[in-house]
Amino acid sequence: MSKKVFVLGAGFSMPAGAPSQAALLRKILQYNGNNYGNPVEQWIRELKEFLSSAFILDPEEMENICLEDIYTPIDKCISENSSFRGYSVEAIKKIQNQLNTLIAIVLDSSIINLDPKSDYNELFVSKLVSQKHEHPTTDKFSIISTNWDIILDNRFFRHLRGSSSVVDYGCQVAGIDSNDNIIPPLVAKTKGGYTIKFLKIHGSLNWLKCPNCQRIYVSKNEKIAIPEHTLEKKCRICERQAFAANGGINLSPHILMPTFLKSMSDVQFKLIWNQAAKEISEASNIVFIGYSFPQADFELRQLLARHVPNDCNIEVVLHSEDGSGPLPNSDLYWTSPEFRYKSFFGKRLKNVSYAGVEEYVNALRL
Ligand SMILES: [Zn+2]
Repeated sequence: MSKKVFVLGAGFSMPAGAPSQAALLRKILQYNGNNYGNPVEQWIRELKEFLSSAFILDPEEMENICLEDIYTPIDKCISENSSFRGYSVEAIKKIQNQLNTLIAIVLDSSIINLDPKSDYNELFVSKLVSQKHEHPTTDKFSIISTNWDIILDNRFFRHLRGSSSVVDYGCQVAGIDSNDNIIPPLVAKTKGGYTIKFLKIHGSLNWLKCPNCQRIYVSKNEKIAIPEHTLEKKCRICERQAFAANGGINLSPHILMPTFLKSMSDVQFKLIWNQAAKEISEASNIVFIGYSFPQADFELRQLLARHVPNDCNIEVVLHSEDGSGPLPNSDLYWTSPEFRYKSFFGKRLKNVSYAGVEEYVNALRL
């Protein structure tokens, strides 16, 4: 049976306002939203001081450094318990936490409300849900997303509300509040519902993790990984253990940051990545949407190298805004996403379109 696997990159969410990874740092350095109060201004000031004194960058150069080049040395120093250019391990941990939070805040504040009539996310979700609704026992598609935003999650939850069908994140999740009514995928199937596989391989803004029991808590509406929601969130299951007397276990965001030292030892990420490997190995057609296929995503690239079947057709949907150029007639073609796809997949690459995600979703048939 045919199976389509969608692999979504930052370009998928860009028409909804989300910045590219390359633009994230610029947005953070220019951010002046006051919804979050003074700590945010203080964190941005400290980030600028850090980029100036540890990376020797002038203010006008700071926005151009890759996030990987900030995170990787920080992660390395933390793992070796070494200081970084005069910053103690404690100081760089603090900078790292603040940068994580700033990324979540800026990403969240960038999302715009699309007109429901032209909302391609809504159309995408409704097409997928309709397919499942008509053929609940089929397994004709799944989604692998590298994005943290919850634009699609919100729409899936809305469409599935009141039914016994659920989003299957590929890991074990529980509701952040006991009345959140998160039904595990296996239970959903026994109740006659269907599941929609949505594998967020870099984590999600609506996930928090308990460092004690390793559970992932999901909220159906809130971006609980953003601090204003995170404050005071404790593991409601570990609360029944002895250390609850010391204030309980604080939950923390479950997001993989852009670094060359990705820690894949986490049990829930292992489950998600194993499921992603399985989906890729069963695919007859993989559609990459808004994903520039960067070398920095070496974990995803090795997964694809190992599991994409010989006879699988690869399609790519890009847009000029997510860095589609330079095109084949240019001397710099070898730096383009198209070249990266072509050199990686060879004859399995069947089509590269520059029409963008909205046009693709409009024409999508399942
Ligand atoms: Zn726990």
